[in-house]
Amino acid sequence: MSDTIFSKIIAREIPADIVYEDDVCLAFRDIAPKAPVHVLLIPKQPLTTLGEAISRDAAMLGHLMLKAGEIARQEGCGDAFRVVVNNGRGAGQEVFHLHLHILGGRELGWPPG
Ligand code: AMP
Repeated sequence: MSDTIFSKIIAREIPADIVYEDDVCLAFRDIAPKAPVHVLLIPKQPLTTLGEAISRDAAMLGHLMLKAGEIARQEGCGDAFRVVVNNGRGAGQEVFHLHLHILGGRELGWPPG
């Protein structure tokens, strides 16, 4: 996988507003937030897209989902938040390093565009 802006954030080569970090993942505020709370949660081990995940990635993916809930709570979203993964250009993916968008802090309409 080629280097993305997110690998540079993990390597601290470019700055980010980090809200959570552990051995497996890193969470930081989206530079162009779409909601009052908009945090990106990424695995440190790069994976291009969710669609390319294999069974070996199961523990990492489960970890990300658990942490997404914790981060939403920590950010004050209460029980109203959304976790989004854009997979592929046709779905709006721009950065090809798997990331979960954690959105909250406002009414979230459905379906998303
Ligand atoms: P996606 O379109 O799902 O690939 O989402 C990529 C997200 O990364 C977008 O919401 C961007 O605003 C966000 N983004 C791009 N560069 C940065 C950065 N340097 N720091 C934080 N967020 C970024």
